[in-house]
Amino acid sequence: MEGNGLKRNLILFGPPGSGKGTQADLLQRHQGLEHIAPGDMLREHRAAGTELGKMASSYMAAGKLVPDEVIVGMIRHRLEQGAVGTGFVLDGFPRTVAQARALQELLAQIDRPLDLVVVLDVPTEELVERLSRRSGVEHREDDRPEVVTERLAIYRDQTEPVLAYLADQVPVVKISGVAPVAEVNSSLLRVLL
Ligand code: AMP
Repeated sequence: MEGNGLKRNLILFGPPGSGKGTQADLLQRHQGLEHIAPGDMLREHRAAGTELGKMASSYMAAGKLVPDEVIVGMIRHRLEQGAVGTGFVLDGFPRTVAQARALQELLAQIDRPLDLVVVLDVPTEELVERLSRRSGVEHREDDRPEVVTERLAIYRDQTEPVLAYLADQVPVVKISGVAPVAEVNSSLLRVLL
């Protein structure tokens, strides 16, 4: 799986509900990339009842961002443990410009610069519909309609500016995230070649 010419150090970027987690999982399973998702890590902490999980839980329930230093500390720890493997896909990080700056420093320290940022493009109406469907299936408390509105507003105000910051340093490509999962996966693999 190694050395097949794929771009292997990625950020999967996009709003909540755009399919980042699903696509990152597929890249982990089929391309052997390490899937690094602070949202999943925080949910694990919360389920295990750690101090970090308790601290993060009120932010998560309200759809607000957990403070940068907490998130960056968690990612630093994971990278220092060698979690980058033969390649990695970041899902849900960075979400602020401060996080993006910290990420670039961390990656410089381990000499693993980013190859690519892939943006999953999905219109807002479709996101709202998907998240409300997921709310019925997975019962994620932050998929409730009032919290979804907050998460989308935070994405627009705090996370979208990260793209302009990264675009100065790393190639950015946008693909449509409105298609069946397998089709989006094919488009994603095409841009990694
Ligand atoms: P996600 O599963 O990526 O939608 O993340 C769920 C929640 O975890 C978010 O709504 C935030 O409360 C928190 N979270 C995940 N990633 C980050 C991040 N990079 N920065 C701040 N908070 C985050």
